Amino acid sequence: MNVIKRVFDFKGAPLLAAVFVALFIAEGRLQLRKRKEPRWKRIVINSIVAIPAFTLLRFLFLPVMVKLAIGNRHLKWGLNYHYQAHPFIKTAVAFLIMDYTNYLWHILNHKIPFLWRFHVVHHSDPDLDVTTAIRFHFGELIGSVFYRGVFVFLSGATPLNELIYEILFEGATQFHHSNFKLPYQFEKALNKIIVTPRMHGIHHSMIRQETDSNYSVIFSFWDRLHRTVRLNVAQDVIVTGVPSYSDPDELTIGYLLKLPFTKIRRWEQVSEAEDVRATLAGKNNLAK
Ligand SMILES: [Zn+2]
Repeated sequence: MNVIKRVFDFKGAPLLAAVFVALFIAEGRLQLRKRKEPRWKRIVINSIVAIPAFTLLRFLFLPVMVKLAIGNRHLKWGLNYHYQAHPFIKTAVAFLIMDYTNYLWHILNHKIPFLWRFHVVHHSDPDLDVTTAIRFHFGELIGSVFYRGVFVFLSGATPLNELIYEILFEGATQFHHSNFKLPYQFEKALNKIIVTPRMHGIHHSMIRQETDSNYSVIFSFWDRLHRTVRLNVAQDVIVTGVPSYSDPDELTIGYLLKLPFTKIRRWEQVSEAEDVRATLAGKNNLAK
């Protein structure tokens, strides 16, 4: 397991911490969406909710994924063990398989009520910024060990492939959750390949049809491929959060940690919903 220390602890984690700080500063200066809650309050709540999930990520998730990848070296069951190609091609194949199956995993988190119990903690955030990227319930992480482990194995990813993908995955998650206003034309071009803040902002809308879109994590083309992409919603009309969990005073650290074990409320229809946004239908270009 030295590979986790070498790659994740000594390189990945400091790099991710630096990306987090850079995005935190950048979104403070160039803000994309209006905030509802003070930043200091958000960072406290989201960081504390993140502690159990990140402990499990480091001491359960990563060791299991790396063990599977090491075991596969002997068993040679994964796809990448069954053809000859340059290591670069094999790395790209492993990344694409892991990223595509994470897109599907994200959809399952929205569609299967048991998984939604945990994912709702992330979506209930009344604002969306880089701190939302760490606001995940530890239960969601436990579920992902089983699901994602299957695809680390089936792809034939090496331990190094898996760890580098994980670092990219976390970095991309921080980036697309951030409230950083990129120059519009630049973001529009970037969005052709990867998920950007405006695109993911729509996924955190209180309007159901918008939440039910833009599930991709790193590469944005999975949503285009499956027609789950929705780009024509301007950021200033988006209300972030989940309608039935929209009272910020209720969403305390203790409540968020126990939320998956309570009776989950139905998604309420937001009054302005479909008809207003229906006028936006038509061309699905990235809105400002
Ligand atoms: Zn989601």
